[in-house]
Amino acid sequence: MGSPEDRGGRDAELVSSLGAVRARIAQACAEVERDPQGVTLIAVTKTRPASDVATLARLGVLDVGESKDQEARAKIAELAELANPPIGLRWHLVGRLQTNKARSVVSYAHAVHSLDRPKLARALADAADERRDDSLEVFVQISLDADPERGGVAERDLAALVDSIAQRPQLRLRGVMAVPPIGADPEAAFARLAHLSERVRAAHPQADAISAGMSDDVEAAVRNGATHVRVGSALLGRRKPVFS
Ligand SMILES: *Cc1c(COP(=O)(O)O)cnc(C)c1O
Repeated sequence: MGSPEDRGGRDAELVSSLGAVRARIAQACAEVERDPQGVTLIAVTKTRPASDVATLARLGVLDVGESKDQEARAKIAELAELANPPIGLRWHLVGRLQTNKARSVVSYAHAVHSLDRPKLARALADAADERRDDSLEVFVQISLDADPERGGVAERDLAALVDSIAQRPQLRLRGVMAVPPIGADPEAAFARLAHLSERVRAAHPQADAISAGMSDDVEAAVRNGATHVRVGSALLGRRKPVFS
């Protein structure tokens, strides 16, 4: 995990970037008269070491986001080996998920933000039934441009997917999630998402959460009602490009 001096430098970096991100959230909340307590900051730690997760946990950030099951599992195992492992972490799966990962994911995840098809709802519910006592929190990922490459349910299929989730007691429908389409104005994208959230809530009042906003567009998301922001690079530094 690096020498103590390296850690000290990294810790100072994270203290400063966390302060900056929290200030951005607070400022956006002030603009629309929202309570910052209503916005959960999820630190997206993909490609970053377990030591960063431990540092952020010490700074009070207990919500951790990962894109890939395998990477999440490896980090959880590494953290468990520490002399003082962080306690109370909540792991959020935010990336596209294959059904064959469902059994693994339900064993550690607090929430899945990328539920976008009935087949995955069924796989997660069946796995949760087998492997956990509490329900799994889920967000329905909506595709705002119906680009099948990037995940998300098309708007026309949203109501049916939501209803199929609501019928499964192993899943707790928290709300909606989206990533703005490439090149789109985030303000317009998040306004559309807020509208879709209202439609979902009309049928399922408890599904009042909105997972939206990343490093570049946190403010626009908060202004449009985001309750969960997923921030990676603004907290942890820029990632190396990943080609997959
Ligand atoms: C990587 C990722 C994030 C964080 O992105 P940044 O731009 O680094 O803040 C948020 N949400 C999802 C779905 C991601 O894949």
